Amino acid sequence: MNLPPNVHLISHPLIQEKLTYARDKRVDHQGFRRYLSEIAALMVFELTRDYPVEPVEVDTPLAQAVGARLAADITVVPILRAGLGMADGVLSLIPSARVGHLGIYRDETSLEPVVYYNKLPPDVADTDVIIVDPMLATGGSLTVAIAAIKRMGATRIKLLCLVASPEGIRRVVAEHPDVPIYTAAIDQRLDRDGYIVPGLGDAGDRLFGTR
Ligand code: URA
Repeated sequence: MNLPPNVHLISHPLIQEKLTYARDKRVDHQGFRRYLSEIAALMVFELTRDYPVEPVEVDTPLAQAVGARLAADITVVPILRAGLGMADGVLSLIPSARVGHLGIYRDETSLEPVVYYNKLPPDVADTDVIIVDPMLATGGSLTVAIAAIKRMGATRIKLLCLVASPEGIRRVVAEHPDVPIYTAAIDQRLDRDGYIVPGLGDAGDRLFGTR
């Protein structure tokens, strides 16, 4: 697909190699968990590239130096439950980040995604928000998640996923063109159950060993 300007496909060799390991169905939950976390850490390095910094003075053993620190607080928002597998990786690079949780289920009658758990920092509007979810499949849950975060006043929101479908990307870009998407792969398609093909299977089950 032609990439919309706000979609960033991160093709770093280390990320691509780890993603290949994570796709392998022979990898158990321990290995899968490790790869997910490592990939998230590598990707957030790229995602934060344009975050503003402010100068800060620091005394070295020899003299004063002017260094830099992130100008705004950061909130990481894992989408339950598979997003939890990426939160630690992000926090390993940004230990000061807050963590807000969003849980979303699909209503059996309307088939619409519904937020069932929402615990975001009250001042999330003042922070840079990084939503983490390994799979951007239909885009239904993620568009609802982004809308919930925007309702609290947040304006600086980015989405970090591992594997995206063309359908999911189109939907998020159409509904939230202001939210940049960072992904390590754009796969072929969705199957009838909404799984990404070839994808990596059910990310939550593989992460928590529940399949
Ligand atoms: N959620 C998953 O865990 N995997 C998919 O392929 C799609 C949605």
